[in-house]
Amino acid sequence: MSDETTMKSYHGSLKEALDDDFLRQTLDKFAVQYKANRQLIFADINEKGLISEIADHKEESLDHLEELYEQFTKEASRKGVIVHRAATAKDACDLVCSIAKENNVKTIIKSKSMTAEEIHINHALEDAGFIVTETDLGEWIIQLRHEGPSHMVMPAIHLSRGQVAKTFTEETKENQSDDISLLVKVARKELRAKFAEADMGISGANFAVAENGSIAICTNEGNGRLTTTLPRVHVAICGIDKLIPTIHDALRVIKVLPRNATAQAITTYVSWITGAVNCEKDGPGAEKKFHIVFLDNGRTQLIKDSKCRQALRCVRCGACANVCPVYRLVGGHRMGYVYIGAIGLILTYFFHGHERARVLAQNCIGCEACKDVCAAGIDLPDLIQEIRVRLNKEFGSTMDSALLGRLLANRKLFHTLLKFAKFAQLPVKKGPYIRHLPEIFGLGQGFRAMPAIASESFRDMWPAIKPQVVPGAKKVGLFAGCAQDFIYPGQLKAAVTVLSKLGVNVEFPEAQSCCGLPVQMMGQRQSAITTAKNNIQAFKESNVDYVLTLCASCASHMKNRYQELLEGENMEADVKAFSDKVIDFSSFLTDVVKVKPETFVQGDEKVGYHYPCHLVRGLGVTEAPKTLLKAAAKYQPAPEEDVCCGFGGTYSVKFPEISGVLLGSKLKNLEESGATCVVTDCPGCFMQLNGGAVKQGGKLKVEHMAEFLARHLAK
Ligand code: SF4
Ligand code: SF4
Repeated sequence: MSDETTMKSYHGSLKEALDDDFLRQTLDKFAVQYKANRQLIFADINEKGLISEIADHKEESLDHLEELYEQFTKEASRKGVIVHRAATAKDACDLVCSIAKENNVKTIIKSKSMTAEEIHINHALEDAGFIVTETDLGEWIIQLRHEGPSHMVMPAIHLSRGQVAKTFTEETKENQSDDISLLVKVARKELRAKFAEADMGISGANFAVAENGSIAICTNEGNGRLTTTLPRVHVAICGIDKLIPTIHDALRVIKVLPRNATAQAITTYVSWITGAVNCEKDGPGAEKKFHIVFLDNGRTQLIKDSKCRQALRCVRCGACANVCPVYRLVGGHRMGYVYIGAIGLILTYFFHGHERARVLAQNCIGCEACKDVCAAGIDLPDLIQEIRVRLNKEFGSTMDSALLGRLLANRKLFHTLLKFAKFAQLPVKKGPYIRHLPEIFGLGQGFRAMPAIASESFRDMWPAIKPQVVPGAKKVGLFAGCAQDFIYPGQLKAAVTVLSKLGVNVEFPEAQSCCGLPVQMMGQRQSAITTAKNNIQAFKESNVDYVLTLCASCASHMKNRYQELLEGENMEADVKAFSDKVIDFSSFLTDVVKVKPETFVQGDEKVGYHYPCHLVRGLGVTEAPKTLLKAAAKYQPAPEEDVCCGFGGTYSVKFPEISGVLLGSKLKNLEESGATCVVTDCPGCFMQLNGGAVKQGGKLKVEHMAEFLARHLAK
């Protein structure tokens, strides 16, 4: 549970997590296995189709939530269930405490429930004098340790068996071995007694089915069934967003939930609970009390929020944490307040206060891995950016992001400053790199060599290198992006060489500027809008067939985000015409030009590839780069080619400790693959990989695809 409200203390907490070798190794191992197993377990079903159905049906349920609530209440009440509705977390806690008091409850057992965690029910019950015991193994362990869950499905994943043995030794006052099967036996023995004694059981609910007033819980341990059946009182705490119309809707989610959570085909137990039943434990015919507390806690307000309501589709599978490169390094306690991972950054803002979300919402590198796997089709990275925009509005921007926002929105000023910086850097420049960064820029950047601004920008060299026009040939407008225009103009120059050789006409509309992604990532929406408008206008005037960019991040942002960004600006047709033309360099060569292998000279070099996040997930490009690589070299696959390199634009400056570790893993994988060169399709990834490789002694050569292909062009 991260309660860091200042960036300084948050960095301290991140460092602690990064220094925890066990945490790092466990999450690393899990992430690699999960990914492989998930792929296998989804192989036999239409994953994307099912996810899109879940998203549509959840949206429909949200539209009819009040009707569903009424229908559920009617059906459940007919079966003896007492249904309550709590507006706030405090109301829900008060309700549960009063149910316990009315029923003379002393001891309570609980099965795993994120909604119960959300309202901190244990604290409320303990403060009111009740004895509460968690019965899910992981939850019991963290309860004994007074910690919050570090994962929504595997709450104690951050703990070693040694730590658990120590905790159990303290609890049982007996020396416990760290043998896992023995530890499970200890838990079973201790908890069985609690089940037998308990007066009340508290559960969550994965679904509340309106058509028959049933709830369902999905668990991997038998404790859920014991909690809901053994005690004479059962209280289910359920987010109101869990209401769905039919059992069929639940079954659809059940097909994806375990596959996404732990790569299992089916959860071990799916328990359907319909109505209050007799409680044989208290004698024949003894009546069992069954209460359901529906929690609002801002949910009905969130439904009205057209942009962010999709967060309520979440089925709590935890997959957005499983694939997140940041979570993998720092764990859930640093990535969310109660809910963790990508959805945790968002729900912290809506359920646990804007102040708590201020720091946490910054810790997303924007790799889109979470969006790619979300069981409910939620555009998580986009929502995280939206939260940043709202936080900036509420609390004001940091000085650096406000300044960068203003600067990038003013193309002429930005370009003039870059020209000035070219001279200002001279005292600290050594070859193509900066020797020492001034302190304000240099904090924590020692993990990579920083590039210097080029002595001549691409826009300055363009008049001299502009190729002859080929009559009737395709015309591409080259979108340079800031990094290539001013730092790596050689990459653009190489692209011009390749394109000219292939008979493609190249234009460079000089009025273009930054794509706007860096300011969008920082929550500076107005600047992002200004830069988008500027680029659309610049390319409209040059009337090109394609807007070609060598930067996967620029391409993905311009293709996928401009439309929404410019909604309401009365320029739909222009935006669509522009976005439709945007294409990345590799796809243009394979899909449009249909380049032949003989265009290149095949060499013996062992070359690996790094997939930029925005190429593979943003644009869905997987095959084009490999086709090109194989035409010119020996392609050398490396593990985790599509995992983020740690750049993330301004992220690597804000969180250098995380960026540096991600880079280290990437370089290690490449080195171990035997590749002597790595190619990529993004200047940001290039900057990160090359900076790291240079810092490590420069054994691994790093190239942009354009430079690599230009080097292998047949005469
Ligand atoms: S975009 Fe990437 S870094 Fe951000 S939350 Fe999603 S997976 Fe994590
Ligand atoms: S946001 Fe999506 S991936 Fe994350 S827990 Fe919810 S449903 Fe699962």
